[in-house]
Amino acid sequence: MSGSISSAPLSAPVKTAAPAPLVLILLGPPGSGKGTQAKMLEDKMNLPHISTGDLLRDHIRRGTALGKQAQTYMDKGHLVPDGLILDMLFERVSLEDCAKGYILDGSPRTIPQAEALQQRLIGQPAPVVINLDLSDAQIIERLTKRVVCEKCGTPYHLLYSPPKTLGKCDKCSGSLIQRPDDTEAVIAKRLKVYHEQTEPLIAFYSKQKLLHTVDCTADKDTVFSMILAFIKQH
Ligand SMILES: [Zn+2]
Repeated sequence: MSGSISSAPLSAPVKTAAPAPLVLILLGPPGSGKGTQAKMLEDKMNLPHISTGDLLRDHIRRGTALGKQAQTYMDKGHLVPDGLILDMLFERVSLEDCAKGYILDGSPRTIPQAEALQQRLIGQPAPVVINLDLSDAQIIERLTKRVVCEKCGTPYHLLYSPPKTLGKCDKCSGSLIQRPDDTEAVIAKRLKVYHEQTEPLIAFYSKQKLLHTVDCTADKDTVFSMILAFIKQH
């Protein structure tokens, strides 16, 4: 659809202009530090961080109508359809705390979701889209070197936060193990899905000149300041 963006008011009632909402969209593969950056942005910008995964779990936990519908798909091992995710998302962003804007983490995930969001934002400033970029090789290195204590659950990273003694937990001397989700085969599969779903989104936002790509090989504070610079530019 290519509807007109604004229409002239007939008999203009004087409205006090509210500050334009800032919608931030974070795109990034597993291991890019997307969740960490979203949290840092939430604190700095004082905007709610809306993770689609959290939203879905919350609806299921509360047993809402949407949550129950989503559960029926998940029980069959299917993905929750775009429409349901959008219903949850749009319900969430219509709450008072999103009036000044919000940070989206995990959505849009597909082109239909991105188009629906676009429709919803008609008449508002365009979103700021941040693409957290990291090569597959680097992602695999980051994720496959994560280990966790079998006993107390303390996480370690063999490069960034290694234990004092190899294979043993600093706190309780428990054995350090790799989560099944962090094996190279599982990560390669997640990356394949990520590329299939996200590359079209990168093209979608890039065509609209909304995409800002940040190189995530830098440390998290450097990545964060690059993201803030893009937001200020906007
Ligand atoms: Zn431990």
